[in-house]
Amino acid sequence: MNPHDVKDDPFRSLRHDMVSSQIRSRGISSPRLLKVMQYIPRHLFVPCHLQKSAYDDHALPLDKGQTISQPYIVALMTEALCLQADDKVLEIGTGSGYQTAILASLAGSVFTIERLRSLSHIAEKNLQALGYDNIHFVIGDGTLGLPDKAPYNCIIATGSLPQLPETLLAQLDENGILVAPVGGRSLQKLLCAKRIGTRVEKRDLGGCQFVPLIGQNGWSS
Ligand code: SAH
Repeated sequence: MNPHDVKDDPFRSLRHDMVSSQIRSRGISSPRLLKVMQYIPRHLFVPCHLQKSAYDDHALPLDKGQTISQPYIVALMTEALCLQADDKVLEIGTGSGYQTAILASLAGSVFTIERLRSLSHIAEKNLQALGYDNIHFVIGDGTLGLPDKAPYNCIIATGSLPQLPETLLAQLDENGILVAPVGGRSLQKLLCAKRIGTRVEKRDLGGCQFVPLIGQNGWSS
């Protein structure tokens, strides 16, 4: 699906440079992911006054003290999910909706949970305007997952967790993959966990810094 009309997009060459110098050059090789990052207009997911910086090599602030992740981290987490076209995905922390757009372009359907109503509404409006029709927006505590719609092929947490909650692992389908920043309040490890029968196989994708997920299986504030 390519719901965007990128003709006359003044950000096109910045986006091209972002993909070649920040994403491909650091080892991200999935052709579908590279293609999607090439067309999704990241500048529409950041506050207006920061649009010029939307394709820079770092995270940017959003409303309410939240952040849109660095493009490379978005790519690294997404590639680790090994998304297939008919996958059902759970995203915890909608934020700007940029990561949501990438997931929805690569998978069959996305359930995205956000704790802050105002952020969820802005993201929903934006993603609808871009033509996405396979995203379900939920407001609530995503650290509990979304058991009603489980199991998921993939779960991604875009804020940090003190540990990998059993509740989330239990909502993964057989061979399902969960990617989440896990560790301390300011520094975490990006973990990729795959459920194989009753076993969970974990991989460490490296150090990272995410805003906290506030909730029952997350941080208290
Ligand atoms: N993927 C987002 C990053 C958002 S930052 C993007 O690309 O913009 C993490 C988000 O998680 C914030 O919007 C924050 O409000 C939200 N959040 C924090 N605790 C949460 C919880 N328990 N459930 C759902 N969302 C939560």
